[in-house]
Amino acid sequence: MGINKTAYQEIQSFCSQKHVTLVAVSKTKPVADIQALYDMGQRDFGENYVQELVEKQPQLPADIRWHFIGHLQSNKVKYIASFVHLIHGVDSLKLLKEINKQAAKHNRVIHVLLQVHIAKEETKFGLDGSELAELLNHPELPALQNIRIIGLMGMASFSDDEELVRSEFKSLKALFDEHASLSTINCQLSTLSMGMSGDYQIAIEEGSNMVRIGSLLFGARI
Ligand SMILES: *Cc1c(COP(=O)(O)O)cnc(C)c1O
Repeated sequence: MGINKTAYQEIQSFCSQKHVTLVAVSKTKPVADIQALYDMGQRDFGENYVQELVEKQPQLPADIRWHFIGHLQSNKVKYIASFVHLIHGVDSLKLLKEINKQAAKHNRVIHVLLQVHIAKEETKFGLDGSELAELLNHPELPALQNIRIIGLMGMASFSDDEELVRSEFKSLKALFDEHASLSTINCQLSTLSMGMSGDYQIAIEEGSNMVRIGSLLFGARI
């Protein structure tokens, strides 16, 4: 158990050289391990489950930037709206509206990333290219003044096939570039969240500026 300090130092310095934000994914890991990484200077942490995040957050320093990286159900937004820093996995107007509503209650503007489905694997989550374009240009979007869409997020196939993974990251980067000129009151894409423990170097080569890394830092999850 415990964190891998050497791996953290290496990955952290690699990411900072490349101007990439490192999100340390702490799901299923104890508060003591998060505190240990915090004590080494890490401030961005990612969690996948609302209940787990809500339990951990008050036990840890208030200046941690909490990233919600899992699939967020509309009825749970209210539990994290007062403190969440960035919500990565948004893929519907319905969820954007709920985040907007809960953010307004706390007088906040909550930053979000839209999740794009790039992997070959079947999953219910994430937008395809045309759904993304539709959502970004949706007439109801400008009224949502308590959210800001600041970028895109995606996950490549869980595969050893480096060329497959690379091509999936390329496809997300192409969508990101396609919409980069969009600039409305609450939508301007600057953050591209792609890359995990197994593929973050490829992701950075393909243009990622935010990686979400868990097992390399905290050890494998059971
Ligand atoms: C768990 C998770 C990660 C981190 O995965 P590792 O392979 O442990 O680095 C990154 N992104 C998302 C969306 C996750 O669910």
